[in-house]
Amino acid sequence: MEIIIFRIVAMALQTKVGRAAPFFCRHKTNLLRGDGFMSNVSELYGSMVFNETAMKNRLPKDTYKALKKTIESGQYLDDSIADVVANAMKDWAIEKGVTHFTHWFQPMTGITAEKHDSFISPKSDGSIIMEFSGKELVKGEPDASSFPNGGLRDTYEARGYTAWDPTSFAFIKDGVLCIPTAFCSYSGEALDKKTPLLRSMDVINKQALRILALFGNTGVSKVTSTMGPEQEYFLIDKAHYNSRKDLVYTGRTLFGAKPPKGQELDDHYFGAIRPNVIAFMEELNDELWKLGILAKTQHNEVAPAQHELAPIFTNANVATDHNQLTMELMKKIAVKHDLACLLHEKPFAGVNGSGKHNNWSISTNTGLNLLEPGDSPMENAQFLLFLVAIIKAVDKYQDLLRLSVANHGNDHRLGANEAPPAIISIFLGEELGAIIDAIDGGKEYNQKAAERMTIGVDVLPKIPKDNTDRNRTSPFAFTGNKFEFRMVGSSSSIAGPNTILKTIVAEVLEEFADRLEGSSNFTEDLNVLVKETIQAHKRIVFNGNNYSPDWVVEAEKRGLSNLKNTVEALAKLVDDKNVALLSNHGVYTKDEVHSRYEILLETYAKSINIEALTMVEIATKEILPAVMDYISDLSKAASQKKAVSAEIPVALEEKMLVKLSKLADNLYTKIGELDSTLANAECESTLEEAEYFCLKVIPAMEELRIVADELETVVGKKYWPYPTYGDILFY
Ligand code: ADP
Ligand code: MG
Repeated sequence: MEIIIFRIVAMALQTKVGRAAPFFCRHKTNLLRGDGFMSNVSELYGSMVFNETAMKNRLPKDTYKALKKTIESGQYLDDSIADVVANAMKDWAIEKGVTHFTHWFQPMTGITAEKHDSFISPKSDGSIIMEFSGKELVKGEPDASSFPNGGLRDTYEARGYTAWDPTSFAFIKDGVLCIPTAFCSYSGEALDKKTPLLRSMDVINKQALRILALFGNTGVSKVTSTMGPEQEYFLIDKAHYNSRKDLVYTGRTLFGAKPPKGQELDDHYFGAIRPNVIAFMEELNDELWKLGILAKTQHNEVAPAQHELAPIFTNANVATDHNQLTMELMKKIAVKHDLACLLHEKPFAGVNGSGKHNNWSISTNTGLNLLEPGDSPMENAQFLLFLVAIIKAVDKYQDLLRLSVANHGNDHRLGANEAPPAIISIFLGEELGAIIDAIDGGKEYNQKAAERMTIGVDVLPKIPKDNTDRNRTSPFAFTGNKFEFRMVGSSSSIAGPNTILKTIVAEVLEEFADRLEGSSNFTEDLNVLVKETIQAHKRIVFNGNNYSPDWVVEAEKRGLSNLKNTVEALAKLVDDKNVALLSNHGVYTKDEVHSRYEILLETYAKSINIEALTMVEIATKEILPAVMDYISDLSKAASQKKAVSAEIPVALEEKMLVKLSKLADNLYTKIGELDSTLANAECESTLEEAEYFCLKVIPAMEELRIVADELETVVGKKYWPYPTYGDILFY
């Protein structure tokens, strides 16, 4: 089993394909510091990573070569070599003051997990030595019983395995040597987010190589999936955070009236960054750079108190690890600056939420970006074939893509006219759109008056890459030489959506390769295939405004799926077509698909349950008493006035008392209704339970909120028990 897992994990890629030049020159970045900063960064960068340089410096030549070969080919690493690598890693770590190591993995909880062991080993003379064996490096056995498994593992067999993933470098975090690993059950089923991602990277590599060979690109030995996730987040005052139980328990505000000022003036976006936020960003950059994470751009986002961080892209495996680390560091470092970092998709109702723009492409180990249109007819033809493969994949598996970004937080965002809608469509831009139209209709392309475009013969016109051409409302936009999948939620791991993306594209590439490999007239068959594919799948291409209500109608006419919430979306995971796709490519076994389905639905129900309970608690213990205090003070004031003289008018107090008492009464009723809705949440299946929370509990929560928020607008400020939206967002 070890060997199998090892093969699974050892196949992502190291080549930093097409990596951009010096990493902090161009861009909308603020480089926040003055003199002496630049030279410092190059020393800092990667200093906490056992990277290529560290390996080269510390491993015997033969070992280094063997390790590299393992990484590139995915073959099993000899035990004796693992011992040498482990020892060198340990020595490197000890020099940096490290005493412990951990297998670092990404279970289905969505956050990373670690269990620390020290290097200490007793000697017969009573002293100790610091040891770290190849066995400890390659395999760990954490108790798997406390991680979600969706029925995959019986409780009597609680053991799980972690297997070293040598394709993502070991690093030091909080004084501990962290070894990136995949996490599996005793019988080899994936219990984590990384294993399926690594499998999908292998699948797309295999199929893309077949396509490249058809175009004569036989020198390519590896195709890498590249990823650059832009991370959005909110930073708020720590004291505000602490005084709101809803933020503490659920990551979002469950109550809160709209403040007089929102984001309408756009004065936050690209505005000056606050000093404590700058200090936060500086420290974050330092820590990220130490871990070899190429944090590059940072700026304010649309909403007040919202910001974004974009890294330079790298391969999908490493990018996933880096994004998890980035989120973890953001939270930790914020606290040091008396701030709280909110990664929730929708911390504040009525204010823009946060996403994670998933920029992705596929590149060869020879440095070619396969989504770069290229200059020659053959390069263009190859590009078009990859492009139409993506179009077909996205059209055919809209449901899978949609569900890959579904969680209870993202439900507030998708379709809320600030983020992509829940309907998947592809934006190609004017130029590329016109080319696709020309091929589809067999029409002449306007710049090629003499003939219509023949793929593999004609050269494509240049496709602009600048921002002006970008459609910001599209969930899936072509941006010149990559796609940007914008539906991913800010709190999610990018592993899931990327696993799906790679698998669906690989599926179509396989189909194309099967069809073209036997062809006797390649150019002609290619032309037919591209045209056919466009004709069958062009309904998914939409260059218009995705936020417009007309699009919902139009999309329905086109037969596009519109899965409005997490539960509707997740239900599709176990459709025969999807299970077949995922299991045929070996990305998830059938059992693994069913286990994820259970875990995701259960997580949804549990999360909504926590939100509802938090609302009941806040409304009962904080809001209601505050309102009662106010009511009591008003009544006292009225009686005191009456005691002085019957002449003093008390109509104001009386009117306010009537209004407040009615609202308080209504609040009490709504609390009771939500409470009893929760009490009835017993269901037969996980799906039914999730549906119950979606269709019954959420509406009851919304009703309670309306009353509470109205009370917030009429109760005196000094009575109100927690900071308001205005307090938090404009601190
Ligand atoms: P923008 O104008 O949208 O900011 P950038 O080119 O700066 O465009 O890229 C935005 C994000 O996309 C960055 O995180 C970047 O690293 C990533 N990116 C750029 N090229 C690729 C690629 N080929 N594959 C994956 N991600 C990429
Ligand atoms: Mg952005």
